[in-house]
Amino acid sequence: STVAADLSVRAPLPVLGQNVTVPLVTGGEVTYAALDYAASAPALQRVWDDVAAYAPYYGSVHRGAGYLSQLSTDLFENARRTVAEFLDCRTGDQVVFTRSTTDSLNLLAAALPDGCEVFVFETEHHASLLPWRGARVTCLDAPRSPRQAVRTLERALAERDPHGPALVCVTGASNVTGELWPVRELAATAHAHGARIVLDAAQLAPHHPVSVRDLDVDWVAFSGHKLYAPFGSGVLAGRADWLRAAEPYLAGGGASRTVTRRADGGVDVQWHEGAARHEAGSPNVIGAHAIASACKALTEAGFDTLAAREQRLIRAVGEGLADVPEVRFLSLFGDDAPRVGVLSFVVDGWDSSHFTAALSAEYGIGVRDGLFCAHPLVRTLVGGDPRAGGECGASGPAPGERSLGAIRVSFGAGTPDEHVERFVRAVR
Ligand code: PMP
Repeated sequence: STVAADLSVRAPLPVLGQNVTVPLVTGGEVTYAALDYAASAPALQRVWDDVAAYAPYYGSVHRGAGYLSQLSTDLFENARRTVAEFLDCRTGDQVVFTRSTTDSLNLLAAALPDGCEVFVFETEHHASLLPWRGARVTCLDAPRSPRQAVRTLERALAERDPHGPALVCVTGASNVTGELWPVRELAATAHAHGARIVLDAAQLAPHHPVSVRDLDVDWVAFSGHKLYAPFGSGVLAGRADWLRAAEPYLAGGGASRTVTRRADGGVDVQWHEGAARHEAGSPNVIGAHAIASACKALTEAGFDTLAAREQRLIRAVGEGLADVPEVRFLSLFGDDAPRVGVLSFVVDGWDSSHFTAALSAEYGIGVRDGLFCAHPLVRTLVGGDPRAGGECGASGPAPGERSLGAIRVSFGAGTPDEHVERFVRAVR
């Protein structure tokens, strides 16, 4: 078949772990097929090499007078510039290094002005759904088309007091269905109603160019470990004003400019105004360097090239399983809606956690099952009701219990065609 012919092509970007073998219950060993990029993408070999080349030279940034401290400071601040370029930021935007997307969105939540309303779709990943605890949150119903998403937001914003501050938080690509959201249109709608918008680009940025300027979003958040860098670093980039006006996310050294003892025994602090305000403590300079290296590698490889190949792999999965009646793919906007390489499905007659355990034990394929930290969305897509009960622990259902969840396969720039071919064969 054409699918099988295509499947001889190698992955475009070398990643770590491509030659790891794992034992099979049926005997023998097989090369591990990592098809869980939406959770964490394997680091690019190039990122690893860049980090290894720098590792002997790293020193504490900003405060050290020594040569290696200066080198590290340059590297850290250059990483900030590389990320700003990668995201096509506006003049005056800030790039704050965080631990992850979750951390970035919690930082923004802590920086909301008084009285800020927050609008978020129930379909969001919990990292986007949950951080807004001090604010008045309006949770919007799952839309069934991109146009309905814009209309739903429009209606909700029209009812608010246009003079108060408001923030819309939206995903660029769903971590469950991979579907692309109409970010530019949602941003225009938010701005037309005097609201701001933050883009959760955790799943979008690894697959698609993200231009803050073009999309006209106020902030973007993403994680290094989904963008082919190792764990532990993330980014919040965008408008400086709310961040500058907010109390520091963490209080401590690095965020403070001057600290003085008052006559009454207390302590006065003047905080930095730039990104350092929210980066207290010794920053993760290796993590920032790794993110910058990944940004450069993806830009050089070219998102057009990477996306064309990824779309072919998505079609290979869809076509390869089209005649398996037990397989039902999950989508909000329709099976043919534009998406990145993230696909979820249920298999009639199968508990999803048993299915994924079999993929691992019998085929050496690593995918994920469950509710993917997007419980209301998966409940809507699997059972038709976002308010349905049931939990999904990290370890799956208790013995004898049926899990509520779906199965998710996800891939990217390091996926050899053979992994997708094996996956299709295994599911069949
Ligand atoms: N948003 C989306 C859309 C995600 O897929 C994820 C990770 N699954 C996150 C946010 C959170 O990312 P992290 O765990 O790196 O904070």
